Amino acid sequence: MHKKHNFGAGPCILPSSVMEKAAQAVINWDGMGLSILEVSHRSPEFEDVVLKTQLLVRELLSVPDHYSVLFLQGGASIQFAMVPMNFLNGTKKASYLDTGYFAQKAIKEAKLFGEVEIVATSKDKDYAYIPGQFNVDAQSAYLHCTSNNTIEGTEIFDFAGHGVPLVCDMSSDIFSRKININDFDLIYAGAQKNMGPAGMTLVIAKNSFLDQAKKEIPSMMDYRLFRDNMSMYNTPPVFSIYVAMLNLLWLKDQGGVNGIEKQNIEKAKLLYKEIDRNPLFYGTANVTSRSRMNVTFLAINKEVEHAFLTFAADKGIVGIRGYRTVGGFRASLYNALPLSSVEILVGAMIDFEKIYIDKTVLELE
Ligand SMILES: *Cc1c(COP(=O)(O)O)cnc(C)c1O
Repeated sequence: MHKKHNFGAGPCILPSSVMEKAAQAVINWDGMGLSILEVSHRSPEFEDVVLKTQLLVRELLSVPDHYSVLFLQGGASIQFAMVPMNFLNGTKKASYLDTGYFAQKAIKEAKLFGEVEIVATSKDKDYAYIPGQFNVDAQSAYLHCTSNNTIEGTEIFDFAGHGVPLVCDMSSDIFSRKININDFDLIYAGAQKNMGPAGMTLVIAKNSFLDQAKKEIPSMMDYRLFRDNMSMYNTPPVFSIYVAMLNLLWLKDQGGVNGIEKQNIEKAKLLYKEIDRNPLFYGTANVTSRSRMNVTFLAINKEVEHAFLTFAADKGIVGIRGYRTVGGFRASLYNALPLSSVEILVGAMIDFEKIYIDKTVLELE
């Protein structure tokens, strides 16, 4: 059904079968004679959707019982403020790992609520790597990290314990690979990268951690209120949750997170191999920190960059322009992007190289 090969970073590609089911539910949901857009969020049918989606999250990520699964709004961006508002209290400081653009945004918000310690940064190399060794103050309220740096194209593969609660922004790689939930005290993720359409934010949090949160905070910023009201303290993003449920059912059919991880490794390997081989392109992230979800690379010069963007667009390849502050290319390989789309992109890089080299040879003659 998809006409284009969508490498966009977010909102991202979703499986066409999910789109079709979602479209049908907009017209007439499960033959009820109502659209999913107009049902009460308090109806038993929708409560069932919330429950099923929570169970799918638990099953796919093996979430232990002493963790809560919440569906919030405000995107991952409101989590940048909500986390420190809840957990950064007067006497303690919070520790942050600075791995790029979104980590910086999280740091900026946290500073509004208390003392922030940057435990390590890779700013010196334009965030091309994930810092390895660093110390965290044992008195810190939590350590915050960004598991996948969507703009810089780096990913954390080791969540070694640092002796303080670990909070992780997993917006752009959740459900893409196996993780051990026990490594984390709180995970958050905007849905629109790998879970569903924009509008919903997933939070997975250890209950004992939530119980330590400050009491005097606005209701909409209080995790416990959402936990105690099945994520329905107010009207939830009904459609986003519904489509996320469809997408997680699709993921389950793919062999779950283990199954999709194998595909994601294969897709990333194929593209990085071509970037490393093709003399017209080069990767920007250090090899050991390379993200499997967002592959960032540059052309040897601006002329090649512009020419390749046009060349690729002619082949139905969209969404590969790098982030506006970074330039170059970024190909996002989220779960629903098939291997065949990566093969088309790699094919385009090979064809483009031939044409470009021929043209350069002609110009030299
Ligand atoms: C996209 C993204 C965000 C911002 O998410 P919103 O839902 O737009 O607020 C935050 N962190 C990471 C890692 C992201 O990729």
